[in-house]
Amino acid sequence: MIVILKPNSEQERIDRLMQHFKDMGLAIHYSQGENTTIFGLVGDTTKLDEGDIMAYDVVERVQRVSEPFKAVNRKFHPEDTVIEVAGRKIGAGYFNVMAGPCSVESEAQIVEVAEAVKKAGASFLRGGAFKPRTSPYSFQGLEAEGLKLLLEAKRQTGLPIVTEIMSEKHLDLFADVDIIQLGARNMQNFMLLKELGASGKPILLKRGLSATMEEFLMAAEYIFAGGNTNVILCERGIRTFEKMIRNNLDISAVPLAKTLSHLPIIIDPSHAAGRRDMVQPLSRAAIAAGADGLIIEAHNDPKHALCDGAQSLDLPQFDTVMADIKRRAAFEGREMMPL
Ligand code: PEP
Ligand code: MN
Repeated sequence: MIVILKPNSEQERIDRLMQHFKDMGLAIHYSQGENTTIFGLVGDTTKLDEGDIMAYDVVERVQRVSEPFKAVNRKFHPEDTVIEVAGRKIGAGYFNVMAGPCSVESEAQIVEVAEAVKKAGASFLRGGAFKPRTSPYSFQGLEAEGLKLLLEAKRQTGLPIVTEIMSEKHLDLFADVDIIQLGARNMQNFMLLKELGASGKPILLKRGLSATMEEFLMAAEYIFAGGNTNVILCERGIRTFEKMIRNNLDISAVPLAKTLSHLPIIIDPSHAAGRRDMVQPLSRAAIAAGADGLIIEAHNDPKHALCDGAQSLDLPQFDTVMADIKRRAAFEGREMMPL
């Protein structure tokens, strides 16, 4: 349920209403916009009587929220949320490109890629240290050593980093990671979602391979329920009957997420198609659809990449794609980060 307050209401009267809800055991999400103040109520609101609430003279309107996702719902927070990480803003027209290899392979590799993507204009360095691979016999990532190398690349280039977590047992290792990625395969790992909620760290939440939009937003709701509001959604393609591409980019996820939620949403064109020749056209589509950024795989030697070489751009290709992204983002009125 949301309670919309009358403008310029006295604080003392607002506090009295808040206390009423707290006494009923409800959690209150307070949203102070330019023109409206909203209380979003989470908990058992079935026992609330709309007439009783309207009797408070600070209340303008009461509305039930039928969707199961509440705190991430745009009805709770009409303005776009902007997440601030390492001096970069994400959302509400601020556009970020995160780029780097699928996996960290060596210091030389990650530093070379970091320098190149930074020069081309990326605002974050991506790179997997813990890799969720379909086969147990495939390269599993350099794990803790990979995180150290990412932090070394961050130290050398100043680029903040985004990298995937696969178990809550590893959270301590991620203390200096700027954005923790929760991969598609773990989108409904509820223990991990709860721990990320408690961590307070910025989270890049990727949509599950066959997750509906409601399930995707409910995963974000888990993180919010743990007290962490720093969530960036990421559409990375979903499973369909089509076999010629790795996944199918659900471009409608962008306007849909923006209608349903206040959270920023970025697109991963690399995992969406699994083909490097599609990264540029899908990036263009993402910008046109209103995405708040992109996460792109780029590698110094894609032919010999230990993971996802076929979808990785080489560094000159990344440079070309990035120049196109900058032009189109500017045309669509986005502000490229870093400013
Ligand atoms: C990745 O980013 O390398 C990755 C494994 O992504 P996803 O979880 O979307 O498959
Ligand atoms: Mn990958």
